[in-house]
Amino acid sequence: MSSVTPDEIWKAVLGEMELSLSRANFTTWFKNTNVISRDQNSVTVSVPNGFVKEWLESKYSRQILSSIRKLSNEIREVKYIVGQPKPEPLRQDISKIIIEKEFQEQAIVDRSQEVDKMTHLNKKYSFDSFIVGSSNEFAFACAKAVAASPGKNYNPLFIYGGVGLGKTHLIQSIGNSLLEQWPDKRVFYTTGEKLTGAYVEAVQNRTVEDLKSQYSRLDLLVIDDIQFIQGKQKTQEFVFAIFNEMHNHNKQLVFSSDRVPKAIPTLEDRLQSRLEGGMLAEINMPDFETRLAILKSKSVERACPLTDEVLSYIATHIQKNVRELEGALNRVVALAQIYNRTPDTKEVKNILNAYLSVPYRKTSPQVILKTVADFFNIPAADLTKRSRKKEVVKPRQIAMYLLREEIKLSFPDIGQKLGGRDHSTVIHACEKIKREEAVDEPLKNELTMIRQRIYDSFEQ
Ligand code: ADP
Ligand code: MG
Repeated sequence: MSSVTPDEIWKAVLGEMELSLSRANFTTWFKNTNVISRDQNSVTVSVPNGFVKEWLESKYSRQILSSIRKLSNEIREVKYIVGQPKPEPLRQDISKIIIEKEFQEQAIVDRSQEVDKMTHLNKKYSFDSFIVGSSNEFAFACAKAVAASPGKNYNPLFIYGGVGLGKTHLIQSIGNSLLEQWPDKRVFYTTGEKLTGAYVEAVQNRTVEDLKSQYSRLDLLVIDDIQFIQGKQKTQEFVFAIFNEMHNHNKQLVFSSDRVPKAIPTLEDRLQSRLEGGMLAEINMPDFETRLAILKSKSVERACPLTDEVLSYIATHIQKNVRELEGALNRVVALAQIYNRTPDTKEVKNILNAYLSVPYRKTSPQVILKTVADFFNIPAADLTKRSRKKEVVKPRQIAMYLLREEIKLSFPDIGQKLGGRDHSTVIHACEKIKREEAVDEPLKNELTMIRQRIYDSFEQ
């Protein structure tokens, strides 16, 4: 069948690939590709850049070869060469392509980060890769101290702070560091949620005692997101029992939570006081310099050098949490790979614009009201009632302030949403909270946590 022209061969390949891939994927990898020559046993495909070349070679070469062989079965090999510079994809395509690309990147990263079967730790988390700044240096120092002499000084260590600020990273690093120094130590990482699941299963199987003794034999038990056990009385009793057993034998316990123990509603008093009995360390959102240092370190890790200007742009504009900072960086790295060069600030701005505007597009007054009410553990309806009770007045003022700050609702609108209050009341509340936020550390922390939760709800 050597009468088939290179062009026809490639059209057939494209036809097949288009059917088996998503549109964005197909466009990313096959746009501006061509068969430029063929000989007896091979076909040479020109591709726009080295990145596409690598990708086609590693991911799609088998599929491409097999569809070529349907037309021309003497072909044994497909070669890829970087040909004419690729005209850049149209702007409206880019964000779609990037999103696909980010998913692929994430999938690659996820696969390479398998969790250890015994300890449930993920090796990717280490003290070395944790960037330290004023927002986390105390927590970091405590974590290092615990890893250096477990069960001695800070027991338990309780690390708290908003979502995506590095709690999991830090507490997993303790486990990894401990095992590096003493490979025989028994270390286990779990989350409040998984622990609850394990406990419920053990109850069903009547193996609670076994489970308890398994945990109690550990040298280090790390429980992430312990706030999950709020309201789960039996699980709390179980944690309390393990806690005492381990603590009595000078075995180390490490916890993380999105807030301090006393702010976890329905946490049994005795467990709360145990959790508070060691060292409490907070992690906050890193300042600009630390954000920049994190970006630098991650871009080096990803082997994707970006200019300082681009990195500063990202560090300036992404202020929510470190996870989002990484997300933004992933997106820019994807862009760099698609262009096969370092993007400039203007391009980065374009690509992050969509990212940055997400909160404004997706949040709603309902989300804010519900988040505030949940945070203070009061029914959302109380915010709109006439009540002047202290437990309600402050959450209500905070809700007003956030409706103003986060979604720029007008004062009369806010008044209306909160049970028909006068707009001067709203102005008064907003100014009061704003003023206090600047000087009142606990209030500032509460607002940060509430904002984190509002932002988190966008991601779902
Ligand atoms: P949390 O558990 O507080 O929600 P994570 O530990 O999952 O947050 O952190 C989110 C992401 O940000 C992770 O990929 C983590 O490695 C990264 N990260 C957070 N803080 C830092 C830091 N100080 N240095 C380097 N990476 C960080
Ligand atoms: Mg976490």
